[in-house]
Amino acid sequence: MSLGFEEARQQIIYSGRRLDALGLAAATSGNFSVRLTDGSIAMTVSGRHKGRLGPDDIMRVDPEGRALEDKRPSAETALHTVIYSRIPQARAVLHVHSVAGVVLTRHLASAGELTLDGYEMLKAFPGITTHDTTARIPIYDNTQDVPALAGRVAAWLCSNPAAPAFLIRGHGAYGWGVNLEEAERIIEALEHLMRCEFEALRLRGGIA
Ligand SMILES: [Zn+2]
Repeated sequence: MSLGFEEARQQIIYSGRRLDALGLAAATSGNFSVRLTDGSIAMTVSGRHKGRLGPDDIMRVDPEGRALEDKRPSAETALHTVIYSRIPQARAVLHVHSVAGVVLTRHLASAGELTLDGYEMLKAFPGITTHDTTARIPIYDNTQDVPALAGRVAAWLCSNPAAPAFLIRGHGAYGWGVNLEEAERIIEALEHLMRCEFEALRLRGGIA
């Protein structure tokens, strides 16, 4: 199905309102993108509030993340383009800042992944049809060196082409899908699962 810039802009505006309402894009955090039929990418402009996006807050970049208009794309654009370049079926990428994700990944200070085991909600991830399974979501240490982080993500995606998401410690989550609807489903499911883990840890006294 062909997807042009105007339609992608409307989709991103709608997603911004939804994810902000869910508390996943406080202040001006997060960044969203959609890959267009011509191979360029509709990307949120740096520093714009995701709950209040208008058409001017979404711009086009090329597959390498270079601006195709006189605006500055998100500082994390390289993490979007690395997903598109390694995962041909990915057409939408969402990055959010979730409280549960931030707290959990900081608590799991030395962990390289978040293990999610036995949850019904795991079926929201592509290819999973039963609760009786385990998903492992990688956790990367946070850095302001986005190209270096993109390099690490690229290497992981090469050996995990079916993965739906990754986490950045103390920072947030990336999720993607064949369209924005699927990317939203993955982000919402991951948020649900991280909140379950957060609450379970709190019940066990692991988080005061
Ligand atoms: Zn971020």
